[in-house]
Amino acid sequence: MYGLKTDWSKKDNDRYCTLDDYTSLKARWCPGCGDHAVLAALQKLCRDEQLPPEKTVCVSGIGCSSRFPHYMKTYGFHGLHGRALPVAEGVRSRRPDLHVFVATGDGDCCSIGAGHWIHAIRYNMNMTVMLFDNNVYGLTKAQTSPTSPKGMKTNTHPNGSLMDPIDPIQTTLSVTNVSFVAQTVDWNPVHVYATLKAAHEHKGLSFVRIMQRCPHYTPGMWDGYIKDPMTVLMMKHDKGINADNLDRMFKNTIAHDPSDLDAARKLAARRDILPIGLYYQDASVDCYDEHSAVGVGMPRANRLEALRNELDRYRI
Ligand code: SF4
Repeated sequence: MYGLKTDWSKKDNDRYCTLDDYTSLKARWCPGCGDHAVLAALQKLCRDEQLPPEKTVCVSGIGCSSRFPHYMKTYGFHGLHGRALPVAEGVRSRRPDLHVFVATGDGDCCSIGAGHWIHAIRYNMNMTVMLFDNNVYGLTKAQTSPTSPKGMKTNTHPNGSLMDPIDPIQTTLSVTNVSFVAQTVDWNPVHVYATLKAAHEHKGLSFVRIMQRCPHYTPGMWDGYIKDPMTVLMMKHDKGINADNLDRMFKNTIAHDPSDLDAARKLAARRDILPIGLYYQDASVDCYDEHSAVGVGMPRANRLEALRNELDRYRI
């Protein structure tokens, strides 16, 4: 791509950024909503990593969790339903210097945005995708979402959802070029933080499914796991999600090498237990943004020649 501005090297802040530098409006989610915990974790991560707010972008679609960009004092784009990922890809492909975070819900990502979701995984652009999965459309007041369990009563299915839900982890693990897939639970801030940190450090698209509490429309959805941590299975590995004291919080663990895709898929298929941690990581997967960014940093004087060379390829 030629003709773009090439020098984006605006001097970064040389001051220390505090949490206030990432905190914008007061979050208007319901009390007890899991979104609060994820927002706090991401703001803390930005502070700890000293991500310049002017070099950080939060992109979202539509839904409760998609209010996320309003609460981060960074650049943000609150987009259309299901369209968070193409917007984020556009940002990423033209501004490879930015840190890109995407907030999307189970309805936003796995229903109307499903086509974008699949291809975003395949394009593997460098960004962190947070899937807030509360098993329901909260913003539109309790409609069945693609991840609602079969039999769950909602306003659209008052006698219970008729179909088995889609599994976001299994689906993501099945896509060509998948490079990072993790799962966490909003009620454990240590694990959420460690997961987002690993996701942000990954080169490529990091897909993080967050089991998110919605006390308003799906109260008690995760109570079994919250009250009995032995029903949560923490994946452990040197290359996995690691943080102090996680072993004390989650005593039910399994050794899992995140480079083993077959093992990851087997774990994702388990229904007897809730696995958390890093299912899969492959940092060697091609990133589309690295191809599409060719020419972005090209000096102005060389652009005409590069353009001529490009057009010459099509000379008859
Ligand atoms: Fe959170 Fe549910 Fe309230 Fe939406 S409706 S803000 S998801 S608790």
